[in-house]
Amino acid sequence: MGEQKRILITGAAGFIGSHLCERFVSEEFNVIGMDNLITGELKNIEHLFALPNFQFYHQDVSQFVYVPGELDYILHFASPASPVDYLKWPIQTLKVGSLGTHNCLGLAKAKNARILVASTSEVYGDPLVHPQNEEYWGNVNPIGPRGVYDEAKRFQEAITMAYHNAHGVDTRIIRIFNTYGPRMRLNDGRVLPNFFYQAITGEDLTVYGDGSQTRSFCYVDDLVEGIYRLLFSDYTMPVNMGNPDEITISQFAEEIIQLTGTMQKVVYKPLPMDDPKQRQPDITKARQLLGWEPKINRSEGLKITYQYFMKTMGKSPMAMAHS
Ligand code: UDP
Repeated sequence: MGEQKRILITGAAGFIGSHLCERFVSEEFNVIGMDNLITGELKNIEHLFALPNFQFYHQDVSQFVYVPGELDYILHFASPASPVDYLKWPIQTLKVGSLGTHNCLGLAKAKNARILVASTSEVYGDPLVHPQNEEYWGNVNPIGPRGVYDEAKRFQEAITMAYHNAHGVDTRIIRIFNTYGPRMRLNDGRVLPNFFYQAITGEDLTVYGDGSQTRSFCYVDDLVEGIYRLLFSDYTMPVNMGNPDEITISQFAEEIIQLTGTMQKVVYKPLPMDDPKQRQPDITKARQLLGWEPKINRSEGLKITYQYFMKTMGKSPMAMAHS
C-alpha cells in the first residue's frame, strides 16, 4: 500500500506531526511537511531533510495553501496544542482550526485527496460523561480560556462533516486524548514536560488545584499507529484515540518523582479556569473498527520520554536514577 503516494502533513514540525512524517516517510510515501513554525521546531524534522521522499514547505496553512501536483492524502495536524500555547496564540489557534481546516478541505476537494483532521478530547470540554465516548456532545465554555481551542476544533469537525456530506470529500476525524513522548517541547506548559523539567532542574513539581483531576496518557507511537489505521479504514465518523489508563495528577507527580529519583517535593498552585476534572477515552470504537489499542504502558513510555528530555537538556543518561 502507498507506493509513491503523496501525502501532505500540516504541523509537520510539531510533536505529533514530526512522528507522522517519520512514519509515512518510512512507509515510502512522498511526504510534504508544512509548518509555520510558531510552535513547531525544525530540529524535529531536520533528520528527514536529506531524504528524497521528504519536502518541507515553511507556510501558514491558515493562509491560502498551494501544493503543486497530485495529492492522495492530507493529515491536518497544525495547531498550538497546549493550554499555555493556545493562550499565547489565541487568534492563530482559532484560525488554524477554522480557516486552516477550510483550506485543507478545499485542497482535498481540488486534489481528490482523502483528508484526516486532528480533533481532540477538548471537544468534550469539562465532561459530564465518564469515560467519554464519541456520542457525547461535550460541556464547553465557548468564551473561557480554552474556548479558542475547543471551539476551533468543534468548528473543524463541523466543517469537515459538511465537506463530507455536501461535497463528498473523503474525510476522517480523530479525537486525540493526552499524548506524550519524545519531541514534546520542554516549555510547552503541559503537565508532563513541566514535571520532567522541574525534576531534572531541581525545582518542586507544580500540581495545579488539589491534584485530584485525572488524565489518561497515551504514548505517541501508539497514537501514530492508530492514525495510520484510521486513515486507511472506511470509517468517516469521529474516533477517540488515547490510552484509557487514567491517573490523578497527584499520582502522576509521584510517578515522575519515583522515576527521576528527584529529592524535590510537590507544591500546589491554583487550578486554571475550566480545567477538566476528569478525562478518560472510551476506545471501544477504535478497538472494534480498527483492532487498535495502546501497547506501550506508562512506565515504559515515561522512561523513553525521560531519556529524551535528559538528552535535550544535555544531561548524561547515566545520571538517571532509575532508568
Ligand atoms: N497541570 C499541573 N501542573 C502543571 C501543568 C499542568 O498540575 O505544571 C495540570 C493541569 O491543571 C491539568 C493537567 O495537569 O489538570 C493536564 O494539563 P495539561 O496542560 O498537560 O493539558 P490538558 O489535559 O489540561 O489539556
